[in-house]
Amino acid sequence: MGSDIVLATTALAKHYGRVRAVDGIDLEVRRGEVYGFLGRNGAGKTTTIRMLLGLIRPSAGSVQVFGRPIGGDQEWLRRVGFLVESATAYASLTVTENLDLQRRLTGAPRQRVADVIEQLGLAPYAGRRAGRLSLGNKQRLSLARALLHSPQLLILDEPANALDPAGIVEVRELLRSLADQGVTVFMSSHILAEVAHLADRIGIVDAGVLVEEAPREVLAARARAYVQDSFTAGEREEALLTADLERYFLARTNPEASR
Ligand code: ATP
Repeated sequence: MGSDIVLATTALAKHYGRVRAVDGIDLEVRRGEVYGFLGRNGAGKTTTIRMLLGLIRPSAGSVQVFGRPIGGDQEWLRRVGFLVESATAYASLTVTENLDLQRRLTGAPRQRVADVIEQLGLAPYAGRRAGRLSLGNKQRLSLARALLHSPQLLILDEPANALDPAGIVEVRELLRSLADQGVTVFMSSHILAEVAHLADRIGIVDAGVLVEEAPREVLAARARAYVQDSFTAGEREEALLTADLERYFLARTNPEASR
């Protein structure tokens, strides 16, 4: 395994009785890469991510992070930031208090609290209790917690959950800039548009199996060819309309207002 492979799985599987939630997945994610793990509801994304983090034990196969099998000493976890299911903050603590608690747990420098509040656009809510945040801002807080200790690898299950279109763009830009600085990002999504703009490589998972994996441009070219061949003119127009409407919506709304 090359030293630039930050995250890898070999024949990773998780079976619940007869349900093959994950059924033999091989992944390799390189340093500084954004990997989009795309699949429908129930495809096996969360189960995979839980195994990547050592939260559940695989039925078969293995996970290597930073070139070593996970388990044993927990040192690797210090280099990983993660988000699995949102709303993990303490409801009665404010945004700042939640982050400060996390900072003390991880030994991150004090300045990081202000940094991530700024990065996630949480400044107007710094003094608000987490329990009173909107769903989208709870998600921002979860992302802020994941980033607090400046991890080298981010493993994010549906990071765009509950974010409005402007929030999705902000988080996308944030993840891109982190990847440009060498941070590796593995993120799941069931929304193609979300990963289409961000991921360097996209893996499509279906019924626990990786059915396709390719660099974004390659997949985009395949998609264009598919649309050309199998969509009617009306369907093509519909798809363009959705893209135009999203852009218009972004142009007409202010991300600083109404959070
Ligand atoms: P979503 O986008 O809806 O979150 P997902 O791709 O994350 O979906 P998983 O949550 O990984 O999908 O679930 C994959 C399959 O495994 C589903 O059929 C689910 O019902 C099943 N499954 C997950 N966890 C368990 C469990 N603890 N016991 C039994 N079946 C489970």
